[in-house]
Amino acid sequence: MIQNHEIAKQQLSKVVFLDRDGVINRDSPDYIKSWSEFEFLPGSLDALKRLTQKGYAIILITNQSAVNRGMISRSDLNSIHENMRSAVSAHGGKIIDIFFCPHTPDERCSCRKPQPGLIHQAQSRYALDIKKACMVGDSVKDIECAQASGCGSKILVRTGNGAEAENILILKNISPDYVAADLDDAANWIITHDPAHPISPDHP
Ligand SMILES: [Mg+2]
Repeated sequence: MIQNHEIAKQQLSKVVFLDRDGVINRDSPDYIKSWSEFEFLPGSLDALKRLTQKGYAIILITNQSAVNRGMISRSDLNSIHENMRSAVSAHGGKIIDIFFCPHTPDERCSCRKPQPGLIHQAQSRYALDIKKACMVGDSVKDIECAQASGCGSKILVRTGNGAEAENILILKNISPDYVAADLDDAANWIITHDPAHPISPDHP
């Protein structure tokens, strides 16, 4: 008899976890509540295309507390994500999956970054080696989430909240593997350094 746990997971050998707001699209203190408020940051579509062409599986992990704040419905959030994925596809890129946390900080869930729950969700859906994955984000929470989950490379972008986050990370003594100007710069670093195949004694 076939048990659920025996169904083979899709194997992903090169994975990039991306935060959404402030990395792919312009962030807003009023939250992104509709597709009309969603604006791609310069170069982000090209970056997604290049990562896709180089064989990286791109997975979004994003805190969307606007859902449980009652500012956007799940179906409206899904609609934004469908539009976003269509635009990315039309540009030659592919976002293979999206994991979001709908909770507010008060709910103390295990999936709101900096907690690693969203990455754990991705690990239960796909076969991937977290030590070879990289995470790109613009907030301290993203880098701490990457660290908590054992993600191989942590990349901070200076777009969105990134400039502020860079200073806070220094105070917290947390060092990203790379601080990028934007997602385009981050993609170049990932492709050049290929964290999916690090050269070290642990990974011959
Ligand atoms: Mg962000």
